[in-house]
Amino acid sequence: MNEIPFNKPYMTGKELFYIAEAHFNHMLAGDGPFTKKCHEWLEAKTGAKKALLTHSCTAALEMTAILADIQPGDEVIMPSYTFVSTANAFVLRGGVPVFVDIRPDTLNINETLIEAAITSRTKAIVPVHYAGVACEMDTIMDIAQRHNLLVIEDAAQGIMSTYKGKPLGSIGHLGAYSFHETKNIISGEGGALLVNDDRFVERAEMIREKGTNRGQFFRGQVDKYTWVDIGSSYLPGEVIAAFLWAQMEEAESITQRRLAIWERYHEAFEDMEISGLVRRPVIPVTCSHNAHMYYLLLSNLDKRTAFINDLKVKGINSVFHYVPLHSAPVGMKFGRANGDLSITSQFSERLVRLPLWIGLDLHIDRVINYSERKPE
Ligand SMILES: *Cc1c(COP(=O)(O)O)cnc(C)c1O
Repeated sequence: MNEIPFNKPYMTGKELFYIAEAHFNHMLAGDGPFTKKCHEWLEAKTGAKKALLTHSCTAALEMTAILADIQPGDEVIMPSYTFVSTANAFVLRGGVPVFVDIRPDTLNINETLIEAAITSRTKAIVPVHYAGVACEMDTIMDIAQRHNLLVIEDAAQGIMSTYKGKPLGSIGHLGAYSFHETKNIISGEGGALLVNDDRFVERAEMIREKGTNRGQFFRGQVDKYTWVDIGSSYLPGEVIAAFLWAQMEEAESITQRRLAIWERYHEAFEDMEISGLVRRPVIPVTCSHNAHMYYLLLSNLDKRTAFINDLKVKGINSVFHYVPLHSAPVGMKFGRANGDLSITSQFSERLVRLPLWIGLDLHIDRVINYSERKPE
C-alpha cells in the first residue's frame, strides 16, 4: 500500500533551467535578474510600493519588527494560534507579544477583542491569515488608525488570496509571505517583505542590506556606501530566486489546481458536517482563498488522536498544529495572554490537517473514504 504523504512539494519543471541560467551567467549573489523579476511580479500582483525577497517569512517578520522600531517592553497584539515566528520576530527586539483569542469560524484573530488589549505600550497589530483566509481587515485597519498603530500582516500562508478583492499582505503597512516548501509557491526556504507604506521603503532596503545604503549607491544616488542603520543579511541568493521565479510564473495554475482538491474535500465532508461529526473550514464571502490548507475540526482531542492514528494505519499522513503560543514555554516567559483564550485552546486540540498537494487528485478518494469512516 502506498503511503500518502502529508505534503509533496510541487515543481513546475522549469526550476533547474532557471538555476542553470543563473549558473551560466555567473549571477549568484542576491538582487540579480531573477530577484528583480520576482520583485516586479510581487509588486504587480499586490500593488505593494516595494517587494523584497528574503530568506524566509521569519526574516521578513524580523525586518518588520526593526521597521516598526520595536523597543524593549513595546507590545504587539497577535493571535496565540500561530507559528512561532509571528511572535519570535518581536521578542528578538525585546517586544512583548500580547495574545488574544481567535474567531471560531476562520480561526483568525478575533478583531472584536483587539481594542481591549491595547495599552500605552502597544505598537502594532499582527493579523495572521490562517489557511490563506483573510482576517477581518477593515475592522483591524480602523482600530489601528484610531490608535495610531501599525498593522503587520503575517501573510505567510496568504499568497494569491484576497480580502474584498485586495491581495493579502498588501492591506496593512507591511506584509510578509513565506515560500517554504510547505506553502503554495515555494523555493525550499524563502519569503518576501511587502512594504505598502512609502515611509518604510528606503529603510527596508537598508535593513535587508546589512544596514548599508548599498542600493542607493548602485542606483547612483550616493557616491559611497556605508553603514547607515542596523540591519542584517536578509536577501536570498540568485539560485533561490531562479527557483522561485519558475514557481511565480505558474502561480495561477498552482492555485487553481489546489483549489480543485480543496473543493473535492469540502463537498465530500458536507454530510459529515451535517451529521455533526466534523466541522469544515468556513470561508467568509469577503474572501477568496488559495487552498493553502484543508482541515477538519473533530469534537475533541481523543477523537482527533484516534482519527490521525487510524489514517496513519492506512498509510495516510495527517498532521495537527499549533501548540498555542501563550501556553508554550517561551510564550509564557516573554508574552502575555489578554483575556480568555478558550477558543484557541479548544480548537488547537480539535484540528487536523489533511494532505493537500498537487497530484493528490489520484489518491484523494482513499483519503476521503478512510476519513469518512473514522470520527464517530
Ligand atoms: C510558515 C509560516 C511562517 C514562517 O515561514 P518561514 O518562511 O518558514 O519562515 C510564519 N508564520 C506563519 C503563519 C506560517 O505559516
